[in-house]
Amino acid sequence: MIPVQTLKNKHVALFGLGGSGLATAKAICAGGAHVVGWDDNPESVARAAAQGINVQDLREADWSLFSVFVLSPGVPLTHPKPHWSVKLAHQAQVPVIGDVELFCRERDAAIAGGADCPFVAITGTNGKSTTTALIAHIIKACGRDMQLGGNIGTAVLSLEPPVDGRNYVVECSSYQIDLAPSLNPCAGILLNLTPDHLDRHGAMEHYAAIKERLVAGSATAIVAVDDAYCAIIADRLEKQGRRLIRFSKNQVLENGFYAQGTDLYRAEHGRAELLLSLDGIGSLRGAHNAQNALAALIACLTIGLSLEEIRAGLRSFPGLAHRMEQIGYQGKTLFINDSKATNAEATAPALSSFAKLYWIAGGLPKSGGIESLRGFFPRIAKAYLIGEAAAQFAATLGADVPFEISQTLDAAIEHAAQDAAGDADAEPVVLLSPACASFDQFPNFEKRGQAFRDKVMMLEGFRPVGRAD
Ligand code: ADP
Repeated sequence: MIPVQTLKNKHVALFGLGGSGLATAKAICAGGAHVVGWDDNPESVARAAAQGINVQDLREADWSLFSVFVLSPGVPLTHPKPHWSVKLAHQAQVPVIGDVELFCRERDAAIAGGADCPFVAITGTNGKSTTTALIAHIIKACGRDMQLGGNIGTAVLSLEPPVDGRNYVVECSSYQIDLAPSLNPCAGILLNLTPDHLDRHGAMEHYAAIKERLVAGSATAIVAVDDAYCAIIADRLEKQGRRLIRFSKNQVLENGFYAQGTDLYRAEHGRAELLLSLDGIGSLRGAHNAQNALAALIACLTIGLSLEEIRAGLRSFPGLAHRMEQIGYQGKTLFINDSKATNAEATAPALSSFAKLYWIAGGLPKSGGIESLRGFFPRIAKAYLIGEAAAQFAATLGADVPFEISQTLDAAIEHAAQDAAGDADAEPVVLLSPACASFDQFPNFEKRGQAFRDKVMMLEGFRPVGRAD
C-alpha cells in the first residue's frame, strides 16, 4: 500500500467504497488523514465501517472542514450529470480528485526526495489492458522492480510505495484522468480514440479532451496517429513544443515509429531503421497488436530499456486471457479464445488477424449485429452460431458464408474441431469471438471463455500453449 502522506492531518471526504474506493480510503488513513467515507450502497458502507473506515452520510457532513474530496472513478463527475456528492463539493469549493492524482502526488514527493521512479501511463479506447500488461511484462522480464495497476487489476494506491528504481505501469481510464490534474508520467501513451462511453462523457470532443490530458502532462507523449482525433492531438502537442513521439500501425512515418506487417521501424527525417519483428509471436497477432507493441517498444525505450531487453520481453509475452488468447492445438488446428469481444467492433481485430477461420459466434446480440463484419466474410470457412443471436446472424451470413446453428458452445467446439481437422491448411484456426454479450448462456465473458478453454482442453490429443491471467 502507498500511505498518502501528502494529506497528513487533513480532513478528507471520500465517495465510493467499492473495491478501489475502499483501498483508497485505507491508503489515505494510513498516511495520517481524517477520512470520512460514504457510498449510495449501504452494504459498501457497512463493509467499510467494519474495516475501520469512518463513515458518514456526506449530505450531513460539514464540508468546510474538507481539504479535498476523493471520488471513485465509477461515480459520475460530469456526465450524464454530476453525482450529488460532486455538487456538494463544488458548492463548498472543495477540489475533486481521484486515486491516480494521489498516487502522482506521492510519487512527486518521492522524486523531490531524490528517488527515480519511472512511470508509464496508458490510455485509449481499445488495447489499454494488453499494452499495459505487455509493458509490465517487458520491464519485469529484464529484472527491474515493477508495479502494475490502475484500471487493470490492482488499485493504484494498493501498489508498493515509490522508492528509487521502482517502475510503475498504470492503465488509466478517462474517468481516472478526469480526476488527476497532476498526472505526469515519464511516458504517456494514447493508443486510439473511437466513440465509446459517451454516456459518461457527453460529446466525443469532451471524451477526446480528457484523454489528451494524459499525454499533455507526460514528459514524453507517445501518440498513435491512426485515427483523426489522435492525429489532431499529436499536432497540437507538437505546436505546444512538447516532446512527442508519433507512431502508426499502418502508415509509413517520416519521423516516429511504425509497423509494416509484423516489422517495427523507427524513422528520423525519412530514414527508417528496422528495430524488431513480431513474426512468430503468437500473443501479438494482428495490426491492432502491432499498435500495442509499438506503444510498448517506445515506452520501454523512453524509460531506458535496451532494444535487446525489449525484444526478449515481447517474445516471451504470454498474452492476456480472453483477448485472442491462444489455448493450444489439436493436431495442427489452433484454438483461440476471444470471449472479451462482446460486439462486432471488438470481433473485427480477431477476424482480420487470420486468413481462414472456423468462427464460433453468438450469444446475446447487440444492435447492428454482425453487418459491419461483412468485409471479413470471405475468410470464414464456416460459422458456428450459438445463443439467442443465432437466427439473426444466420440471416446476415445468408448464402455468403457456410454456417450451422450449433445452439451451444460445446456443440460448436466439437463441430468446428471436426471440420478444421479435415482442412488441408497448415494451421486452421477455430476462433471463439462471439460479437455478443454472454448473458443468455453464461454469467459473464470470463466464464464463457473459461468454458471454451475447458472444453478445448478436453479434446483428444490437445497440446497447450502458455498464457497470463
Ligand atoms: P481495453 O483494456 O482498452 O478494453 P484490451 O487490451 O482489453 O483493451 O483489448 C480488448 C479488445 O480490444 C481486444 O480483444 C481486441 O479485440 C481489441 N483491441 C486490442 N488492442 C486494440 C487496438 N490497439 N486497437 C483496436 N482494438 C484493439
